[in-house]
Amino acid sequence: MIVVLFGPPGSGKGTQAELLTGALGVPHVSTGDMLRAEAAARTPLGREVASKLAAGELAPDEVIERVLEQRLRAPDAERGAILDGYPRTVPQARALDAVLAAAGRRVDAVLVLGVDEKTLLDRLLHRAAEQHRTDDNPTSIAERLKEYRQLTEPVVHHYRRAGVPVVEVDGTGDVEAVHRRVQAALEGMRGTV
Ligand code: AMP
Repeated sequence: MIVVLFGPPGSGKGTQAELLTGALGVPHVSTGDMLRAEAAARTPLGREVASKLAAGELAPDEVIERVLEQRLRAPDAERGAILDGYPRTVPQARALDAVLAAAGRRVDAVLVLGVDEKTLLDRLLHRAAEQHRTDDNPTSIAERLKEYRQLTEPVVHHYRRAGVPVVEVDGTGDVEAVHRRVQAALEGMRGTV
């Protein structure tokens, strides 16, 4: 089962994806985590994307598509994956659809975490103090929010048009409360996916 989690930066995609891995028995695949690991290890790919990561700008589609395609071929992703941070643009969504179709698979469900902008900023600045992510600074946060609205929200429409079940979940409140809503949303989709 391939589930894609959407939501602006700070909406809790990573946290909710982690909680879902247990429930669904498929891995959490975060392109952001993968790129941060490459950057920290100073691999050639990491060096290529480090400045983009810090500025909150998107990595080139061809780089990210390569990373993702490889990840989906790993044995633990045979039964599916929870995708977090990918696809982020309509061209990436088309590339993912093609990769999945070639393997007789498809995106089964889309979850969109909704959180108001003030809560997002509070969460991201709090995370900045705790985790020191290079992109959790006011300039990069503004860039990432703008990208989400302009480039990623259209991807949700791409899936709606394709007939993939899309459910919006209220992402405010504590982690457990959001997790219960996410699980209820997936349960609600069970009949359709
Ligand atoms: P995230 O952890 O999902 O917030 O991603 C952090 C950063 O990684 C983004 O601001 C981009 O620089 C890069 N990144 C992650 N996923 C993608 C993607 N699908 N396409 C392009 N860049 C990405």
